[in-house]
Amino acid sequence: MGGGRVLLWDFDGTLGQRPGRWSGTVMELLDRVCPGHGYRGEQVSAALTGIYPWHRADQAHPQLSEPHAWWQRMTEVIGEALVRLGLPPTDAATAAGLVRAQYTDPEHWSLYDDTLPVLEELSSLGWRHAVLSNHVPELPILIRFLGLAPHLEAVVNSAVTGYEKPHPEAFRIALAATGDPEQVWMIGDNPTADIAGAHAAGIRAILVRTPDPGVPRHAPDLTALPALLAAEYEPHARR
Ligand SMILES: [Mg+2]
Repeated sequence: MGGGRVLLWDFDGTLGQRPGRWSGTVMELLDRVCPGHGYRGEQVSAALTGIYPWHRADQAHPQLSEPHAWWQRMTEVIGEALVRLGLPPTDAATAAGLVRAQYTDPEHWSLYDDTLPVLEELSSLGWRHAVLSNHVPELPILIRFLGLAPHLEAVVNSAVTGYEKPHPEAFRIALAATGDPEQVWMIGDNPTADIAGAHAAGIRAILVRTPDPGVPRHAPDLTALPALLAAEYEPHARR
């Protein structure tokens, strides 16, 4: 280990996705627990804003590094959010209690079409890969299910480390887990957590999928990455 070239990948929205994400998951459960509830997706989404550990990335949460503790806390805050939305407390608690199974069901997750081909191409060019994600404790299970595990040297997951991107410690742990590479890039879809976080930790970064006016290095999909990275290492015409 040590040295070499490493790409740190965000997971959600970069390599893989769950349609509907958190609010979609909760809507699926409201439809099941209280059919005809009448709430719209954007109301549920607004009610859940700010409750996730990655919305308080400045606060480390080592006390949640055990899956049961992590989900106990999430179940609690989702239940509270649903009560604020106006649900009867018993229904809110029932729906919140089902979120873990519903959200982490691997059948709901998929990789983007470009994920595996691009990881393989970049591997053939000498890049090693790791995931650095703000995620649920079950992320490694999802990664294995999706066939991503053989391509990764490490999965650095905030639910385990207690540090959410953009906290610099999240990036430091990822560098240590990949042997302190000589060349390293963060690839992700979130301008704050992935790009600003990486830059603050001294790591170069490329935003993928949705562009952002504040981030010049952007790839509309992963297939653009090999050429973008190669261009960074071409010898300059003038020195
Ligand atoms: Mg993401």
